[in-house]
Amino acid sequence: MNESQRISANLGQLHVVGDKQRGPFRRDRVFDFLVPNITERVDTSGSTILYLEDVNVAFDGFKAINDLNFYVEKGELRCLIGANGAGKTTMMDIITGKTRPDSGIVLFGNNLDLVEESESDIALAGIGRKFQKPTVFEQLNVFENLELSMADNKSIWWTLRCKLNSEQVDRIHHIASLIGLPDQLASMAGSLSHGQKQWLEIGMLLMQEPILLLVDEPVAGMTHQEMEKTGELLTSLAGNHTVVVVEHDMEFVRSIAKRVTVLHQGSVLAEGSMDDIQNNSDVRRVYLGE
Ligand code: ATP
Repeated sequence: MNESQRISANLGQLHVVGDKQRGPFRRDRVFDFLVPNITERVDTSGSTILYLEDVNVAFDGFKAINDLNFYVEKGELRCLIGANGAGKTTMMDIITGKTRPDSGIVLFGNNLDLVEESESDIALAGIGRKFQKPTVFEQLNVFENLELSMADNKSIWWTLRCKLNSEQVDRIHHIASLIGLPDQLASMAGSLSHGQKQWLEIGMLLMQEPILLLVDEPVAGMTHQEMEKTGELLTSLAGNHTVVVVEHDMEFVRSIAKRVTVLHQGSVLAEGSMDDIQNNSDVRRVYLGE
């Protein structure tokens, strides 16, 4: 067998692997660089960035989300409150693609149907979620944690191999300042206080340039001073980003809230300013038994 016959035989073997076609002759193959970036698929030209309508989810017949309508404007800082079991986490799970609704519409921007997208594509589309417990890389320093989270950063391997350009280094410094950790860049994440870890994780999300940030109970376990700084941070993010904060601490909610949504039994019970909410008779009936 000469060289060209050998190559062509090898290519032939590559052609069919198991039940899938692979290799250079695959007709259905679309090269990565030809696939439109999912972020570019999101049309954010309208004023509403998140749109949930008539959404329902039942677990074993129990309606966790019940004809839910929820709309968030671009650049808003929205607080979401509700008793345990009201459906807050389930709603976040629906937005991030972890839970599929049984029915209803869930749109990001004017056009991205979140019901049809995978969790990873939803994250790539610009929805970042911060869970209650901080998940930073404890053995890496603050700079490295931020570096790993960069939007165009594909892997740890990339980080080890590639040198950052000055724009990327500037971005890390900018985010570190924003989250109040400009002097901790060389500190191991594991040595940070609980509050600082929470801010670092918010910074890691910001490195991915999210359009919408979902933040779950950011001040749980924080000192009063850390709570204040967290409030300032979240308030400063609104405008450039849209932020939805789930929080139980009413003092904190009052300190940051412009608009508050109260969830109850999987539906919106009330919505408005904190004063509106506190004076709302439905809310008082449900919470205070009046
Ligand atoms: P909390 O403040 O305690 O976190 P929540 O408002 O986030 O409460 P959810 O966690 O969304 O409430 O739960 C809403 C309801 O749905 C609860 O009654 C819960 O027990 C139920 N639920 C949530 N997930 C599941 C599941 N995977 N299977 C069965 N029931 C579930």
